[in-house]
Amino acid sequence: MGNENELTCSFCGRVKPETQILVAGLDAHICEKCISQANKIVEEESTKVDTSEFSIELKLPKVIKAFLDEYVIGQETAKKVLSVAVYNHYKRIANQKSKEDIEIQKSNLLLVGQTGTGKTLLAQTISKLLEVPLAIVDATVLTEAGYVGEDVESILTRLLQSADYDLEKAQQGIVFIDEIDKIARKGDNPSITRDVSGEGVQQALLKLLEGTIVNVPPKGGRKHPDQKFIEVDTSNILFIAGGAFDGINRVINNRLNLQAIGYKSQIKTEKIDIENLIQYITPKDIRTFGLIPEIIGRLPVLSHMNPLDKSTLRSILTDPKNALIKQYQKLFSMDNISLTFTTGALDFIVQKALDYNLGARGLRSLCEGILNQAMFELPGTEISELKVNKIYAEEQFKSVELPALKAVS
Ligand code: ADP
Repeated sequence: MGNENELTCSFCGRVKPETQILVAGLDAHICEKCISQANKIVEEESTKVDTSEFSIELKLPKVIKAFLDEYVIGQETAKKVLSVAVYNHYKRIANQKSKEDIEIQKSNLLLVGQTGTGKTLLAQTISKLLEVPLAIVDATVLTEAGYVGEDVESILTRLLQSADYDLEKAQQGIVFIDEIDKIARKGDNPSITRDVSGEGVQQALLKLLEGTIVNVPPKGGRKHPDQKFIEVDTSNILFIAGGAFDGINRVINNRLNLQAIGYKSQIKTEKIDIENLIQYITPKDIRTFGLIPEIIGRLPVLSHMNPLDKSTLRSILTDPKNALIKQYQKLFSMDNISLTFTTGALDFIVQKALDYNLGARGLRSLCEGILNQAMFELPGTEISELKVNKIYAEEQFKSVELPALKAVS
């Protein structure tokens, strides 16, 4: 081996004393400056668009539904409707590729139901099954161009990012737009007190839902003014919109009552399940609520999410493939601790979630609160078993600070 100082960077030719770091490879060396430059190239390339062919395996509605069943408890109607919509959506794409003369319309969906009933979970599960990218966006942060907030195009930036900048993939992805009810037009519905973004956003969304080509800044709006735009075609993106539509039960109730008085009554009043009016929702109710008809027309598949009752919450705790209890058991088992819950303890957790009106989201904070002490104390000890019974759950629940829960009570 010759003099160390005579070693040079194989990329820029600087000799070792001129460099701070010279990394040796098999037959070459590289200095810190060239490493950093190469790194920049890698970064730039990774945000470039990949246009490779991407195709999705068409799955039968029954197969889709069976997959959803593994993760989402209850919500039978929504799962069936979604399975068919997704099947038709990807059939539509296949049809386009075969250049058939009948053009099939898009089957974008609108899911109506209280928060925490599984709307986002449905969208996430579908994207997992199909291995397509998913962007989850909140309609309330969308604004018209130029206002503080996010432009409607930012939805597509997210989708591109979630597709690792593979354009083909992004163009067949799924966008879940949450809280679509919050951009309902003010006025028609007295329960909406702020017109967060109003009709301007609705108009911008219309184009996206229907299918258009949008210039999308790959890294998002304002921080990178000189980035190159990517043209994204939204015509094969599946949009799923969700919203709680607070107050919609009143609208449905009014309509049902009117129907009962009139002659056209289809649903006999005595058969109506007044505890769960959401199941009778129609596009007309959404219109009365204040969403503009054009948006409703572009979300042609409408379904509802049932409120979660005791037995659904109970099975959400233990049954799904990645149920909360299974997740905690896994965490404990990594410390060689076997974790079990008695029925009494599980029922207690469900009851508290109901008492505090927290829905399925509350189950997580409740479990966290009840298990926190044990998760702190037990690792590193000899203890190899934790059996959570009702008394233990109650004690832990009382002793921990659960600010979120206490705030609601
Ligand atoms: P939404 O979008 O309707 O507000 P989410 O899908 O975000 O509700 O649900 C919040 C959490 O509650 C999910 O991550 C999931 O753990 C749980 N959850 C809600 N509904 C269900 C359900 N039907 N089956 C299984 N888990 C559910």
